[in-house]
Amino acid sequence: MRILKDLRRLCRLIAEQSPGAADPAAVERLETELTIELSGERLSNRTRGRARQLVRRLEKQITSLGGSSSTPLGRVFCYRCESAECEHATPPSGHDVFVGYHATGRAEWASFTTLCLEHRPDEADALYADPPRLLTETSTAAELRVDQLPAFGARSSAYEVLGQVAVGYFYDRSRPTGRSSERRALTIQIVHRVNAKGEPEGVLNVIGACDGTDSLGALRDDDAQTLADIVRQGERRLASLLHARNGSSAPPDRIRSLLGWLARSLEHSFKQMQRRTKHAQERARDSQRPTQKAREDALRATPERLYIDVDADTFVVAGPRGRTHVFTLAGRHVTSLVVPADSVRRRVSGNRWRRATASEWSAFSEVCVAITDPPS
Ligand SMILES: [Zn+2]
Repeated sequence: MRILKDLRRLCRLIAEQSPGAADPAAVERLETELTIELSGERLSNRTRGRARQLVRRLEKQITSLGGSSSTPLGRVFCYRCESAECEHATPPSGHDVFVGYHATGRAEWASFTTLCLEHRPDEADALYADPPRLLTETSTAAELRVDQLPAFGARSSAYEVLGQVAVGYFYDRSRPTGRSSERRALTIQIVHRVNAKGEPEGVLNVIGACDGTDSLGALRDDDAQTLADIVRQGERRLASLLHARNGSSAPPDRIRSLLGWLARSLEHSFKQMQRRTKHAQERARDSQRPTQKAREDALRATPERLYIDVDADTFVVAGPRGRTHVFTLAGRHVTSLVVPADSVRRRVSGNRWRRATASEWSAFSEVCVAITDPPS
């Protein structure tokens, strides 16, 4: 059958041209489904479209057989070196984001500041404001590959980036002061790939570490947490988008709206977090207040309002309106909490607390004059 021979030849040709060279034995065992329309005398556009789809599907299947050709997360695929292991596959520094492919297929990077100055010069100041504001820069797949020439993989689907959001700056976890040398930018790419089982899947590839490992690891814990949540949500959205398309590529407008969602979520979440950090700082400034209150309540405590916590061996002062303070026997303030009157009664009847004796009360009165702050 000539048609089968031609198909085999097509598969071998794709394998030869696919980066990361697929195992020839695996290519020979490849199975694929074919739908052929017999109606009509001339080839309809639909049939031509199906043929193109078939070639693309074969390309993906064969690329996935390559094993080494699948790009690990944290890196991009470099078409010039036909590898995700070369020096171009990761950013040269923590400030750099992916800006697309060179004509020769080389993966290119630039500082996030340069990118912002070029695309949104009016807002670039925000990167260096105090506190700094997080900016995002979105690129579509076409924009990232606009310079790349066909001979250098422009039509290859070895690494199918559907679009990306570059984002910065985050504080480096090791140095939280936020000087420009201590900031980090990330590239978050929407990638459509074929997994080891030959099934299409969508992932968000976060790229920010120069060695391609744990891109979020360099960020402060709360930033990394917020980012990880957004990435997970993004992947769920991408999965349902690809599922609805039965695995074939999602239309560009749906990808654009997913990129828009990603950029908005990043900017919004980090604005919220900045606000929360500010509140936390304000609360920290007010933190001496409970100790002052505890001291006042302790000094006013009558013998019948002083208890001993039997297990913890601590003094417990039941202040007004359920306000309750715990002190060590040496008079160090441990904590303050609200304990309703019936809870106090339950603890006493359950023998967890007992009323202090007169001598304990006078000992407490002596030490509580010198009450110290809780350890912070
Ligand atoms: Zn390279």
